[in-house]
Amino acid sequence: MKTSSFRVSILSLSISFLVIGCKTNEPISQKAIGEDFKTVATIEKADSAPEKDEIGIEEEDIARAEGVREYSDVQRLGSQEIKLRFLKKEDGPTFINLHDDENTSVKAAFKVLDSLGGRLIELRHLGERNIKFNLNSTAYEFDPNRMFTDLGAKTSLEQYSKMSTKAHESIRGLAQRVVDSLDSQMIVTLHNNTNDNYSSLSYLDEYKTDAAAVFINPTRDPDDFFFVTTLEFFEKFRNMGYNTVLQNNETMTDDGSLSVLAGRLDIPYINVEAEHGHFKEQVEMMFALISVLHTK
Ligand SMILES: [Zn+2]
Repeated sequence: MKTSSFRVSILSLSISFLVIGCKTNEPISQKAIGEDFKTVATIEKADSAPEKDEIGIEEEDIARAEGVREYSDVQRLGSQEIKLRFLKKEDGPTFINLHDDENTSVKAAFKVLDSLGGRLIELRHLGERNIKFNLNSTAYEFDPNRMFTDLGAKTSLEQYSKMSTKAHESIRGLAQRVVDSLDSQMIVTLHNNTNDNYSSLSYLDEYKTDAAAVFINPTRDPDDFFFVTTLEFFEKFRNMGYNTVLQNNETMTDDGSLSVLAGRLDIPYINVEAEHGHFKEQVEMMFALISVLHTK
């Protein structure tokens, strides 16, 4: 039952993707937002998140999936075990999920790698966004997407708990382990956001200095967007009509996120960001990404 509905929806996604792929793009819109903002808001309201059952992928489906290999590597941060879970099927891009509460992206990645092949790396601990651990009787907390630079890790420890050299060394060690597990040619991350704060529109406003270019398609939910570090990928996703943000690698704030490290190392980076529950949208975006990689 689940398998057959899964195939049908993959087919319909492919069709809708082709249609989108044929659309001509509108110009980069640093300013086009004003009038269109109302339209975006209306669409967003109508576009409610699907029920859990519509997603139709649960842990047991992952365990039973044919040809998907699973293995884990456990890293310790003081008292806390951090599991790096790897799911792999044939060849394909590596996707990484850093926030343990962003499960729509994990399910979307599983669907994509089960149909087209690829590898998913998932950071697992307590099912929360931040990682918490005790070290030498002190409690620490940090955001795992802030651990990829020295300054980012320090700032995140200070923001959520306190800085200590030992704790800092530990989380930088975890960051290195994660980086070592990624492809050196390309980084693809998966994130989910909520309907209220952060979105592609944030880069026209609050995070303006972090973006070199922003493309907003008012017919799409601004919470669903690509965040990239190279002009080449910016243009490709924009031309397909997706909301797309190009990181300004020169002026980007060093917050320790993986995109900052990728910008520094000159490794192309693509974040497929979608609202929680936007499973179909995120799968479609990942299909688009794979088609872009194939035509490179
Ligand atoms: Zn995230």
